[in-house]
Amino acid sequence: MKVAVLGAGVVGSATAYMLAKEGHEVTVVDRCDRPGMETSFANGGLMTPSDASPWNSPGTVRQIGRMLFGSKSTLKINPSAIPSILGWGLKFLANATYERHKANMISNIRIAKLSMDALRSIRQTARLNYDQTTRGTMRVFPCGGRISEFVQMCHEMQEWGVQFEVLDQDQILEKEPCLGPVIDRYCGAVFFPDDESGDAHKFTNEIARLAAELGVQFLMNTHIREIGKGSSSRISHISTSRGDLSADAYVLSLGSYSPILARPLRITLPIIPVKGYSVTVALNGWKGGPTRPVMDDGYHAMMVPMGDRLRMGGRAEFARYDTRVDEKEGRRVLHDILKILPALRSHIDAGAVLNWAGLRPMTPAGPPLVGPTPYTNLFLNTGHGPLGWTMACGSAKLISDLITHGRI
Ligand SMILES: Cc1cc2nc3c(=O)[nH]c(=O)nc-3n(C[C@H](O)[C@H](O)[C@H](O)COP(=O)(O)OP(=O)(O)OC[C@H]3O[C@@H](n4cnc5c(N)ncnc54)[C@H](O)[C@@H]3O)c2cc1C
Repeated sequence: MKVAVLGAGVVGSATAYMLAKEGHEVTVVDRCDRPGMETSFANGGLMTPSDASPWNSPGTVRQIGRMLFGSKSTLKINPSAIPSILGWGLKFLANATYERHKANMISNIRIAKLSMDALRSIRQTARLNYDQTTRGTMRVFPCGGRISEFVQMCHEMQEWGVQFEVLDQDQILEKEPCLGPVIDRYCGAVFFPDDESGDAHKFTNEIARLAAELGVQFLMNTHIREIGKGSSSRISHISTSRGDLSADAYVLSLGSYSPILARPLRITLPIIPVKGYSVTVALNGWKGGPTRPVMDDGYHAMMVPMGDRLRMGGRAEFARYDTRVDEKEGRRVLHDILKILPALRSHIDAGAVLNWAGLRPMTPAGPPLVGPTPYTNLFLNTGHGPLGWTMACGSAKLISDLITHGRI
């Protein structure tokens, strides 16, 4: 079957690979010059089924006021974005009950675990280089924080296969000696042995390379203008800046831009862009940082080793489609990390700092939209929010199975 995948982010590229493995003739269309140049470019780099809890946990919703207005605010709403997020926000809150949140968390875990299995099986047959670490991740909790609430949630996740260990101060230091100078800040940590990390942009290009080796065509620098309807039930073509393209089936994987292309088809996708920031510094051989990703639950900040670089990230901002990098936000991310890793300060080469911002394609419930549409040959694989890389190979497998075998 001829399949057109719309979007060459991590989700579209993984989808193309899975479809090509099933023997389909696949074309990927994207406006950028290379795969993974938008939200999949410099994300946090975490592959963390352990992070499957959607953002609207009842506990987090109680903290929204503090996150917005507190001295350590990590959430920002640009007034111009308010009209566009009202309906979405109500659905977000409607999903914040214990039962709905748990059901959505389980959906995320299922896709994320499928994803990790798929990735590991790809790695068994192909050599992939994306600055990966496979040493788990560690979430550290400041004293007086919410560790007991979090551990309770970990027990629920464990029923669905997410393994964890609770660590005391000595065990934290055994794993990450770099936290020595600030260890008194922490009363404990949770370690997730099966989590991984790496550079999502490099990974996207690696999976795109494997897809191309299987015959996938990447039509880059090509803007998709419209998805054309042949009849009320089928898509006939897509109109692009390089002319029309027809296929037997189409997969929509345009991240935060998916709703814009779906709207003229009378498909309303509940996805809004939620901006986030990352800062990446070159370490120039310095080995004093963490050896695996460390998340500080108090600052909502994370540091992720990536080869000879350290990536830091966090923050959530509702700012519509504004992808401008606000240097001030980048500095706040760095400032929080320097409180955890003060030794980093003297190793930062100001000329080699990458400040980046991207748009998480967020659904109000949490899980991505993976499945059919009212059009028999149009499929969705989009809306992965803060877990797009974690879930990319899994949701790609699901949509490829649906197109190939008619089941998900
Ligand atoms: C700060 C931050 C940190 C994050 N950290 C993590 C993390 O640690 N782990 C994790 O799993 N996830 C993380 N995420 C989320 C993850 O990055 C996203 O979920 C994922 O990148 C989404 O991938 P995608 O392929 O759906 O979208 P994208 O990567 O945005 O790809 C969509 C593609 O569609 C193309 N496109 C859009 N419109 C058009 C058009 N009209 N014509 C042609 N092409 C078009 C774009 O060029 C783009 O290449 C983070 C996100 C942010 C912002």
